[in-house]
Amino acid sequence: MFIITNARIFNGIKFIKANTVEIHKNIIRKVYYSKNFENGLNINRSILCPGFIDIHTHSSDIDILDIKSREDVIKFKNSFLKKGVTSFLLTMFYKKNNRKLIYIADQIQNSKIGSRCLGIYFEGPFINKVKKGVIPVEYIDINADIKKIKKEYKNLKIMTIAPEIKNSKKILKLLKKNKIIPSFGHSNADYNLALHSLKYGIKNVTHLFNAMSKWSENKPPTYFAFLKNKNIFVEVIADGVHIPPTILKLIYKKFSKNRIILISDKVNHEKIINKNKKVNSRLYLHDMICNMKKICHLAIKDILQMATYNPAKLLKLKKVGMIKKGFIADILILNKNLHIEKIIFNGKIIL
Ligand SMILES: [Zn+2]
Repeated sequence: MFIITNARIFNGIKFIKANTVEIHKNIIRKVYYSKNFENGLNINRSILCPGFIDIHTHSSDIDILDIKSREDVIKFKNSFLKKGVTSFLLTMFYKKNNRKLIYIADQIQNSKIGSRCLGIYFEGPFINKVKKGVIPVEYIDINADIKKIKKEYKNLKIMTIAPEIKNSKKILKLLKKNKIIPSFGHSNADYNLALHSLKYGIKNVTHLFNAMSKWSENKPPTYFAFLKNKNIFVEVIADGVHIPPTILKLIYKKFSKNRIILISDKVNHEKIINKNKKVNSRLYLHDMICNMKKICHLAIKDILQMATYNPAKLLKLKKVGMIKKGFIADILILNKNLHIEKIIFNGKIIL
């Protein structure tokens, strides 16, 4: 058991009065207020918050498409952890009968070393070629078989779908039946079609404003549709390049801290980076968090919620994403500039 005390505790939603966390094995056993700092690790009013959760990332220091060995798998998962990402969804593009990717996805999910892989996020294959962004065309397949995909890749959590493709309603129903969260994205749908698609269970929007239809003079912009349903989360790449700072501020104003999920959408594969200079190759979720502070000057509590509690809520996680009794002890200690001072993962100090 160990105790961290004299902390400013951000519990995932807000800063709380309690200043002390007691960790037993890998679980947070108690969160309370104490005047006595002698029994624990005194962190002198630094911020104590849940570990970051990146639900949309294709790479860490190494890209998923470049993994060749067990060492690469370990490097992939460890480099997330060193950047404060204690949990992540392995984000991939789907290609039929890609044995190598199936094998790697399995290795990443089974390996106990490094950051916790919560499951898989497929960006596609049911998307619109016109809005493919950097996704290579061979990873688009509107006739793919969901049951087969689910069989090949365990823990499939999210799938991006463009509602204008053939049979989209049928696919959306199948996703729901298989407990896969459908995410609107890589789509040319206008406002009306986007709004209509929400009736079929869309719960998330893949990188809002990126790989979506452009605004036209006489139609409401597509993103207005997502404002209509308060239960939908929107992913945001906050590098300041994918979305200009003024639009980032607008998103915050319109969707509020409760509906934004910060993502890195980190891609490191050389061929993909070369195709599109805008793609993130170096930035981690932590960089997006710092950007939101630097560019948009938002309150720290609002930014941290977008990288901890909100992604956990989308995925209905009951043990990560909060500093709360009974939760797994994935904890970051940050200074007031959000620099990471200490990382506790699964109850162990790793940095
Ligand atoms: Zn992506």
